[in-house]
Amino acid sequence: MAASTQVITRFAPSPTGYLHVGGARTALFSWLMARHAGGNFLLRIEDTDIARSTAEACRQLIEDLKWLGLQWDNTQLVYQSKRQEIYNAIIADLIGRDLAYEAWETSEELVVMRGLAEKKKQPFLYRRRSYSADQVQQFKAQGRRPAIRFAMPVKEYRFGDVVLDKELVLGPAEAQDFVIRKADGMPTYHFAVVVDDSEMNISHVLRGQEHLKNTFNHIAVQEALGYRRPIYGHLPIIMNRDGSKMGKRDRDKHVRRRAHEYIKAHKSDAAAVALAAGIDAGQFAAWISDDKKQLDLGDQAAVMRAIRVDARELPEILVHDFRRNGYLPDVLLNFLALVGWSPGGDREHLTCAEMVDLFSIEGIGKSNAQFDREKLVSFNTDALARGYDEGVESNLLPALRDYLAANPASPLNDVADSDLVRLLSMKKGIRTLAEIDQLGRFFFVEDEAIVYQPEAIEKVLRKSEQQGANVLLDLLKVLEALTEWTSTTIEIAMNDYCQQKTFGLGKVAQPLRVAICGGTVSPPIFESLEFLGRARTLIRIRRCLEI
Ligand code: GLU
Repeated sequence: MAASTQVITRFAPSPTGYLHVGGARTALFSWLMARHAGGNFLLRIEDTDIARSTAEACRQLIEDLKWLGLQWDNTQLVYQSKRQEIYNAIIADLIGRDLAYEAWETSEELVVMRGLAEKKKQPFLYRRRSYSADQVQQFKAQGRRPAIRFAMPVKEYRFGDVVLDKELVLGPAEAQDFVIRKADGMPTYHFAVVVDDSEMNISHVLRGQEHLKNTFNHIAVQEALGYRRPIYGHLPIIMNRDGSKMGKRDRDKHVRRRAHEYIKAHKSDAAAVALAAGIDAGQFAAWISDDKKQLDLGDQAAVMRAIRVDARELPEILVHDFRRNGYLPDVLLNFLALVGWSPGGDREHLTCAEMVDLFSIEGIGKSNAQFDREKLVSFNTDALARGYDEGVESNLLPALRDYLAANPASPLNDVADSDLVRLLSMKKGIRTLAEIDQLGRFFFVEDEAIVYQPEAIEKVLRKSEQQGANVLLDLLKVLEALTEWTSTTIEIAMNDYCQQKTFGLGKVAQPLRVAICGGTVSPPIFESLEFLGRARTLIRIRRCLEI
């Protein structure tokens, strides 16, 4: 293996789900480290878990990394699933040297063994067991296939972690023989990661702290194979503001809470919701009453449909969630960089180039990092405001188009660039691009598709003996009589009307809003009327009055 002094980092996701912020942060730090040192950043797909890896997750992962701008340097992506022969040859060599062996226990038997150890309040450690020739014969006759375990030398293991800045130790009593090839013939993560890090000449491995203990296994295999050891750094755990660990569970928790609310509000029960969702009633009942259980993604989506929970409402965890909800990629990168790293001082707003320039391992924190959603929203708001200053057309329009690509159902997808620019210009001070979508959709749907919110109708039009509706009737006449339809002429006419009636503009703005968009929030009202056009405005006012 060629020794190299060059910095080569890698991101090695398992495509069993979409890229989440924890993974993205690992990718970002590895990328920053390589770019800072003028080295290489490589991408490897760790898809040896054939039952759980999907091509769709892989596609989405690549799209998400590209969206974030974390470009990798290997033109040929490394897929572990395509490298079985290479792993098998190395495993054969280990078996030949008696450093690996066949282990015949089924997963059920291992569960029993683990249970026995637990009963004796002892940690379960697998060490080599011997089988007679007859036993092996029997196992084979039963159709069992052996896993291959690594005979981990019983001794002390140590490594220095560059992030934690300390030496970590595993005592001999904790060494155990772990599986390196599963009964299905695929290598395990612990084995493939070592072979590939070596073959790809990885100099630095940055990864989450959940892998801290795995590192001892990796070191043991490296030693057996005579590989150079990369430098390891384990990144701080990401926490929610309430102190809980951030993760996919947060979404599950949210859906469970909403399911309880739904059942209460609709005087329904678990069995009825399970039926509506088309999922197993027993499984649903177990999940809804147990915080530790999680639904798989397909069932979660089915339950959400049944209880009418929109995906946008879930706490954002996946990179794709942030894109779909209207965050800018540079903002997310800047924010993620600060989840566990600091450039020093109180600098927070950083461009990508500045992050590359300032990045250092010493700047990575040792303790848990906080994921402060409010800070992210404020970063996004600031960046969008800068976008307005730098030019709506050159800056925000491409961002909005990108947002729309992730929201194919939005009617704004069919809108011309010039109209999107106009819409963006009407509403400054937005926090996310999703706000533009929500605020602006009503312009681009059929007049008949406007849904009047009952609370808005009640509060703005019906209250105080239909005062609002009467004003709207007056306004209809005023607007019908207008010869020129611009925001200025509309505003003048509305001002005149208000003066006559001696009331403030709010009294006319709200009824108009409800009439054109169904609710009480819209971009500035006179510009909105101009943009909607005379004919459609009048149609909507009449339709609203009929209701
Ligand atoms: N495939 C592993 C994961 O996604 C990689 C861990 C590592 O970086 O070694 O967690």
